[in-house]
Amino acid sequence: MDMVKMFHMNGGIGDESYSSNSGLQRAGIMKTQGSIEEAISELYKNNPSCTKTIIMADLGCSVGPNTLLVSSIVINAVAKTSLELGLKSPEVQINLNDLPTNDFNTIFTSLPEHQENSTNDHLPLCYFTGVPGSFFNRLFPSKTINFIHSSYGLHWLSKRPELEEINKGSIYLSRTTPESVSRAYYQQFQKDFLGFLKCRSEELVGGGRMILTLLGRTNDDSRDEESYYVWRPLAMALQEMVSEGLVDEEKFDSFNIPLYTPSTNEIKNLVETQGFFRIDRLEHFYVYMETLKTDKFDEAYEDEGIVRALAKSMRAASESLVANHFGEAILDNVFTRYAKRYAKILSCNKEKGRYVSVTVSLIKKE
Ligand code: SAH
Repeated sequence: MDMVKMFHMNGGIGDESYSSNSGLQRAGIMKTQGSIEEAISELYKNNPSCTKTIIMADLGCSVGPNTLLVSSIVINAVAKTSLELGLKSPEVQINLNDLPTNDFNTIFTSLPEHQENSTNDHLPLCYFTGVPGSFFNRLFPSKTINFIHSSYGLHWLSKRPELEEINKGSIYLSRTTPESVSRAYYQQFQKDFLGFLKCRSEELVGGGRMILTLLGRTNDDSRDEESYYVWRPLAMALQEMVSEGLVDEEKFDSFNIPLYTPSTNEIKNLVETQGFFRIDRLEHFYVYMETLKTDKFDEAYEDEGIVRALAKSMRAASESLVANHFGEAILDNVFTRYAKRYAKILSCNKEKGRYVSVTVSLIKKE
């Protein structure tokens, strides 16, 4: 399975698109807004070239409101720092990266409107560029980038880990996962994350900043259920379809989500092993499913509305993986069952509707 060729969030702006179903990730980005602003302000004040031009990249930008949200936070932080320093705003180049199958057309179509809405005189002149490619490879020339941001992309692995044993009944790491499977998952993450850091350390200028936010874990046990809350209902839905003869059992046994949710300690160790970055901040935080509540939900059906929104956001992110493995025909059926299963689980324990994020702010050593 080649993630570069087949993986993507659901494109367009329709009901099942990532664009319409990325509220959880948006809430996560907003929790890191302070770190982004602080990094930009320090970058600007400490690097003389940044008073003229700031070159940034958002890796795994996807498509939708979050894509330009990060750019807006950066642009406003640049404007604020310029005012503080009494300087004319530098020009900002914004490189938007994602896999080649990402719906870049929708992003570029929305740019003119986004730029028209930016009426503040102090806002810097911005130049947007699309960069298709995997962030596990080099994307930019050496020592050209000042700031790199990436949210909710880096927990996706470059490929499915090679497993020696079947992860029976599970589609990600869970309490019943064999140790060899959790080891293989970690090894794939380690290889991918170290490769990512190496590429970025070559592309960033000395003193350049990088903020990475990804799904993570609050403890060091990768088989802890916390990371499995969101996947268990999908495994249950698929298993139900196996028992009804709608899904082949072997197909189910060989389906493992190519994702890894690291702990803060794992991130710390890998950054220190690689050695080119200094850690400025490293923390975890929660995003709660209540974030998805909208005025549209009737009060009596509020919980049901939230669960449906949750199922849609899962579908927008993982549909390409499910379709690639099982075929498109099962999609509606499996995600309807997913929503029902999840609703049942959440009615017993609301805690299973919160997601752990890990965020790290790094400074490239000189
Ligand atoms: N940053 C956005 C989107 C997150 S969705 C937000 O926070 O809402 C994750 C995105 O990462 C997807 O668009 C996916 O295509 C992208 N992605 C996953 N693996 C990638 C890789 N190896 N290289 C580039 N982008 C990748």
